[in-house]
Amino acid sequence: MTQPLKLALVGIGKIARDQHLPAIAAEAGFELAAAVSRNGRVEGVPNFTDIAALIASGLAIDAVSLCTPPVGRHRIAAEALAAGLHVMLEKPPGATLAEVHQLQAQAAGAGRSLFATWHSRHADGVATAAAWLADKQITRASIVWREDIRVWHPGQEWILEAGGLGVFDPGINALSIVTAILPGPLRLDGARLVFPAGRGAPIAAALDLVHDDAAPVRADFDFRQTGPQSWDITIETDAGTLMLTEGGARLWIDGVEQPAQGVGEYPALYRRFAELVAAGESDCDLRPLTLVADAFLLGERTETDPFAF
Ligand code: NAP
Repeated sequence: MTQPLKLALVGIGKIARDQHLPAIAAEAGFELAAAVSRNGRVEGVPNFTDIAALIASGLAIDAVSLCTPPVGRHRIAAEALAAGLHVMLEKPPGATLAEVHQLQAQAAGAGRSLFATWHSRHADGVATAAAWLADKQITRASIVWREDIRVWHPGQEWILEAGGLGVFDPGINALSIVTAILPGPLRLDGARLVFPAGRGAPIAAALDLVHDDAAPVRADFDFRQTGPQSWDITIETDAGTLMLTEGGARLWIDGVEQPAQGVGEYPALYRRFAELVAAGESDCDLRPLTLVADAFLLGERTETDPFAF
């Protein structure tokens, strides 16, 4: 058996603690060797406050996994690649498309793996949905992603700052699923973005997308949902209706629930990262971020009441 990759986890916040640390602990292909965070700490490994300090320490590390917010991620990833490390990126892979393009070129030049993760693509219903849709004619689709920002992102001021993506932070998960399961290309036709007064990112958005230049796909993203939360995708086809609910965890075809498949979103991401490193490859699909960027380019903007966490 090959040696586990020595990994440094960067940005010890909610997702690092909720998902990355348990997934790394359970994966034989990785050994947590360090943590990098300005305030957060992980017991039992050396802790550093910045990637530069980790690199300067000379500690043996093979790879980093970045869980910081998107703004600022590029500098950390570029320094890690320059030090010869493989890099795994939380979603979204960056604050801009150009910075991720640069990382792709840098990784290719350095012969290192760059993995732009989309965790929702590994939800239990997604692979079966993609297989079922592969030979279907899509007639229309709708995405409803409505969650309570105060419940899921408590106190995360960065998410409503410019570059934090606002409601596209969860919404991009839906876009990562539909770009993976729909058989044809998606493009944006129009969008309406709602910004709270004084904030740099939208709290709600409605997107009009087109699948394969034929079928309308409507997306409704809202961070102000209280009560029941929705992470649902409905796809109508010439051969029936497919529904993914609970963020892709449950799959229904013509109202009949399908068996769940998968090892868990984050275990699947770390297994894929290990495979990419072993194969000397990168995986950096920018279609979800491109659709979000297009919504910022094309979207009409309205202002709503100020928002406080
Ligand atoms: P978070 O709780 O705010 O944690 C991010 C951590 O990054 C912070 O605790 C902070 O730790 C560090 N950091 C470095 N620079 C920062 C800056 N300028 N502003 C704020 N924090 C900074 O955020 P999160 O929910 O874990 O999300 C991080 C990334 O994971 C995002 O890209 C998000 O889309 C993605 N993600 C989140 C979830 C979720 O459910 N929360 C799910 C999937 C993916 P220090 O202060 O110690 O440096």
